[in-house]
Amino acid sequence: MVSTTMETLSIRTENKFRTLITKQVYKKGEVICAIPSENVLDKPNRYTVQIAKDKHTHVGKLAALNHSCDPNVILDTERMLMIARYDIEKGQELSFFYPSTEWEMQAPFICLCGATNCIHVVAGARFLPLSTLEMHYLSPHIREMMIELLNNTELHLKKLQEA
Ligand SMILES: [Zn+2]
Repeated sequence: MVSTTMETLSIRTENKFRTLITKQVYKKGEVICAIPSENVLDKPNRYTVQIAKDKHTHVGKLAALNHSCDPNVILDTERMLMIARYDIEKGQELSFFYPSTEWEMQAPFICLCGATNCIHVVAGARFLPLSTLEMHYLSPHIREMMIELLNNTELHLKKLQEA
């Protein structure tokens, strides 16, 4: 049984900036908790996580998860589970790679995570090159939307050549 209570997670607020902290150690690959789906919207906002092409859900406490370009958790939107990407220490902040679930974000921002592979502009998967996305775990809906975008681009190029 996967925990849905998220008792092992706490939110820390500093200067209105929220972070999600774990009170427990996790091993790489371990399920941390189920992703709650409180209500589903057809448009994103800064608190939602995208779970399908036109579905954005409120995720309770997990809304405090910040972005990192070298994150320590994965949001598996197919099984609705949060999974450790690395071994995680007690008291560590949890983060995930926003473009792994978000196609086009409502509130883009500049990333200052300091990772060597930092993408800098966090606006959603559609604004990232394939070579960057390939380095990350991606939700199935992001993969599908990327393939759709590539096919449309190819069609568009063909039309330009024929004109
Ligand atoms: Zn970054």
